[in-house]
Amino acid sequence: MTKTSYDLTWDLDVIFEGGSESEAFKQYLHTLNDNLQGLSEKVNQFTTPESVNEVEALATIIQHLETVTTQIRESGAFISCLSAQNVDDKKASLLRAQVSQMGALFSTTMTQLDQKLVQVEESVWNDLLDSPELSNLQFVLNEKRRRANENLPLEQEAIINDLSIDGYHAWGQMYNTIVGKMSVEVEEDGESHHLSVGQASNKLSSADRDVRQAVFHKLQNAWTEQQDLFGETINHLSGFRLQTYKHRNWDNVLKEPLEINRMSEKTLDTMWSSITKYKGTFVKYLERKAHLLGLEKLNWYDVGAPITNEEQTVSYDEGAKFIVDQFNQFGPKMASFAEMAFEKRWIEAEDRSGKRPGGFCTSFPDSKQTRIFMTYSGTASNVATLAHELGHAFHQHVMDDVHPLNQRYAMNVAETASTFAEMIVADAAVKKAETEQERLSLLEDKVNRSVAFFMNIHARFLFETRFYEERKQGQVSVERLNELMEEAQKEAYCDALGEYDPHMWASKLHFHITGVPFYNFPYTFGYLFSLGIYAKALEEGSDFEEKYIALLKDTGSMRVEDLAMKHLNVDIEKPEFWEDAIKLCVKDVEEFLHLSQ
Ligand SMILES: [Zn+2]
Repeated sequence: MTKTSYDLTWDLDVIFEGGSESEAFKQYLHTLNDNLQGLSEKVNQFTTPESVNEVEALATIIQHLETVTTQIRESGAFISCLSAQNVDDKKASLLRAQVSQMGALFSTTMTQLDQKLVQVEESVWNDLLDSPELSNLQFVLNEKRRRANENLPLEQEAIINDLSIDGYHAWGQMYNTIVGKMSVEVEEDGESHHLSVGQASNKLSSADRDVRQAVFHKLQNAWTEQQDLFGETINHLSGFRLQTYKHRNWDNVLKEPLEINRMSEKTLDTMWSSITKYKGTFVKYLERKAHLLGLEKLNWYDVGAPITNEEQTVSYDEGAKFIVDQFNQFGPKMASFAEMAFEKRWIEAEDRSGKRPGGFCTSFPDSKQTRIFMTYSGTASNVATLAHELGHAFHQHVMDDVHPLNQRYAMNVAETASTFAEMIVADAAVKKAETEQERLSLLEDKVNRSVAFFMNIHARFLFETRFYEERKQGQVSVERLNELMEEAQKEAYCDALGEYDPHMWASKLHFHITGVPFYNFPYTFGYLFSLGIYAKALEEGSDFEEKYIALLKDTGSMRVEDLAMKHLNVDIEKPEFWEDAIKLCVKDVEEFLHLSQ
């Protein structure tokens, strides 16, 4: 508490000294490679157990697997940090290639192991999982076996894997290449500048409507010019995905994303229908915002516009103190964790060039540390991002003493922990606002987040499901893609806007990510699930922290329906839980409508 000024750069040396030239890291990779080769050999020699007496062989493999998993994650985290802090670090790219290669051998080894596990006879399998060596891994091992069972035989999956490098992932890379070459000419203070599409998109949150409008139309032109190319990338990568599903006999495109997020389709449907039921309130908000901005109706590029021109800045130390204080209201463990992260320099926040944009949190499971990356320039949204990433970091922190194989959690629950932390801070900020204007603007910020999760993400989800259905019948033309996108937006925003963004299927990277399908609904799940948890926390006060920690610890080894039942005593396949969470957002809108009358 005595420290008055926090360092804005992180300490990576304490993990591996010397950056991308680190001798210690070189040694570490060497050991990892040896361990990986050892694991691969062991899996090769492993024969399908025929009785529970053979549990030892499997337990030994699991132990090896623990070590290798931990070391691969530790290495990946270090490299991510190196290339994020300096995008021109060529040595880091070389290290990345080295680890990717090990990652490929690791995946093959895992597929091989999974296929052997599929062959274990049911009764033997159950006995194995009941043995003391493996009983704490029942969930993940059952999941592994079930997933492998739904895949094709080993040789066929191996061919798909090999072909996907150039036939699937390559389309995602092609997308990035084309986007990287695009530029938009924007007039600023009488001069014209060439901006990347990312830089231009940032101008869409300008307080000046003329700027937003001009940039929006320039961007539309730019996407229209390239739309034929993006029509190819999205059609081919979805085509590859659908062909793979067809061969595996999976007829539902949501099967894979739901499985990854360990949730049922009923939960997903209930979540969306609960949201739809309350959309009327958010339409009122959009109408009021149009009024405040002096407009008849908002256009797509007005939704995120600020309602005031004043932007307060907060110093890093003030931001840090505010976060720690607010976490403390909720629970001492999260607060002292955050304080330690600031003190021990687990956070890279310096505003300088050469850094990767955006923010992330990554964990070093071997060192039992985490690192947060962001660029702090003193805006309210920077403080929110910092709280968000600290939420992720705390989640990982409580996982440190959980078995490594029970530590992997999906995006929907990951976003729960981060959003929860963000909510604590956002709520406190509204309460502490000194003027009515400030309060209104902070509240608007909060409501806008709800609009993003309930309407924007919903539009993406509606588009993507419908697009994939049509794609099953053959290629979808760019005209049809534009049409599908605009229809989805109109539906998701209840026709509340004037002009829409028909090219969002091209401009949103998320539709072109091949690693994770349907990169949308898990965000909304995380948002609402954390709101539900937050409501409980408000009810129970600081006693709730222990329960919250217990919930987080189970996120790597339970389906979300079971997680919610065990820790919150709610059935998330039923609407009550979702509606209660949405009602909290509705309250914000009501207050906003009242204050802005
Ligand atoms: Zn996040």
